[in-house]
Amino acid sequence: MPDPAAESGIPGPALAQLRRVCRHGLSLDETERVAYSYDNSRKHCLPDAVAFVESHQQVSQVVEICCQYRIPIVARGRGTGTTGGTVPLQHGLVLSLERMNRILHLDPDNRLIVVEPGITNAEVQRAAAQEGFFWAPDPTSAEYCTVGGNLGFNSAGPKAVKYGTTRENTLGLKAVIGTGETIITGVHTTKGVVGYDLTRLLIGSEGTLAIITEATLKLTPLPQNKITLQLVYQDVNSAAKAVSAIMRQPAIPCALEFMDRHSLDLIRHHAELQIPAQASALLIVEIDGYESSLREGADRLIAAASNNALIKSAVADNRQQAEQLWAARKQLSPALRKIAPKKINEDVVVPVSHIPQLIERLDALAEQYAITIVNFGHAGNGNIHVNLLIDPENREQAENAQACLSDLFDLVLSLGGTLSGEHGVGLEKRDFINREIDPVSMALMRKIKQQFDPQGILNPDKIFPLA
Ligand SMILES: Cc1cc2nc3c(=O)[nH]c(=O)nc-3n(C[C@H](O)[C@H](O)[C@H](O)COP(=O)(O)OP(=O)(O)OC[C@H]3O[C@@H](n4cnc5c(N)ncnc54)[C@H](O)[C@@H]3O)c2cc1C
Repeated sequence: MPDPAAESGIPGPALAQLRRVCRHGLSLDETERVAYSYDNSRKHCLPDAVAFVESHQQVSQVVEICCQYRIPIVARGRGTGTTGGTVPLQHGLVLSLERMNRILHLDPDNRLIVVEPGITNAEVQRAAAQEGFFWAPDPTSAEYCTVGGNLGFNSAGPKAVKYGTTRENTLGLKAVIGTGETIITGVHTTKGVVGYDLTRLLIGSEGTLAIITEATLKLTPLPQNKITLQLVYQDVNSAAKAVSAIMRQPAIPCALEFMDRHSLDLIRHHAELQIPAQASALLIVEIDGYESSLREGADRLIAAASNNALIKSAVADNRQQAEQLWAARKQLSPALRKIAPKKINEDVVVPVSHIPQLIERLDALAEQYAITIVNFGHAGNGNIHVNLLIDPENREQAENAQACLSDLFDLVLSLGGTLSGEHGVGLEKRDFINREIDPVSMALMRKIKQQFDPQGILNPDKIFPLA
């Protein structure tokens, strides 16, 4: 039986020190290493070891050792990220934060909760709800994904249109930079302007600048009630125009989701949902607040969203109906995966007024490259999930998909948008970010990375194009 320690890419003295710090939390077992070699991007790379840390002090000591021996470290929550953020491209150590999952402090009077990064989003929501609060970021993966991952990718969900993303809902962080040193960022108050805003810098940095070990999250009181609307349109352009009309008026929806014709074909299998045959697009619109003002808000939303192509506007009569609608929306991604297991899923963003052009030109790209493109997503933020249903084993389709993607990114940027709203850059989009970010900013970002991580050990080969 080969000795995994002898075969490990980690030098012996480093391994001995890591064992002393992590005790039973260090694994060289191949099964474990395989399990931590990939994320939801389905890309693989085997790490030399996996460390299951349980405290800030352990994280700091592990990073210090890795810095000394230049061992790459990839911070990992639950690996639900879709852009390869946790794939250990240079092998080294996967640092699993999943055992650091405690709530350290829940403070309703100051509307905050302090947590360790390995707690899941859903666990935070359940704890906050007991005090009448919620944490605004609500990715569909909430039951599985961690707060650390949410911070790493600045994740969000439908509620972002009213309540913002992870960035707008985090007050401060404790983290370990690439030397093993500790930094404490941000404030525990709702105002504060002392020094640079390192909290916002770390959020969305995908584990390339520091490993977050504690987060102070901003809580919001739960609304008294909400109303869910289903708006069905005859053509996709009119639905896209309705999104801008809704966002122009003062009754802010707490969700504004869009589904195109292909998405509707998929969810028609949900027998309970009555979707007219001539429908080409559907909006789910939700408004929350006090019971007394909700009906008026819903009427305002329907009025704003009405145009000649609106063929059905229905208020969900009860929670069950609303849940059916959301269940259909949430099943879209897994349903598409069944049809095209290796589909390409982009999450581009454009200013809401440009959604009609985006959708129109996506149709043209689908025709040009003979690829079925399915679009749905968080329209209130202009954040559209563009799904290219391809079979990468089909060489022609795979080549077409790459050309189509390149055109898609150019299109999004020409419309004043951005390449990713929530999935991040990871390794999937690193070759494209030069198109969005100017050379001076890119150089500045590389220098920032160097300051936080002088040995370049934190999640190497991510975000930045390879030199
Ligand atoms: C079915 C499904 C639905 C999804 N729906 C959504 C959605 O609605 N909205 C959305 O935004 N995303 C969504 N995602 C993507 C994914 O769930 C989110 O990106 C999530 O935040 C990742 O959490 P994680 O714990 O799995 O993080 P991981 O995938 O483990 O890590 C994500 C990134 O954060 C870094 N990281 C993790 N922990 C730390 C830490 N402690 N310190 C520093 N860096 C760290 C990692 O290195 C990596 O770069 C979905 C994914 C799936 C599979």
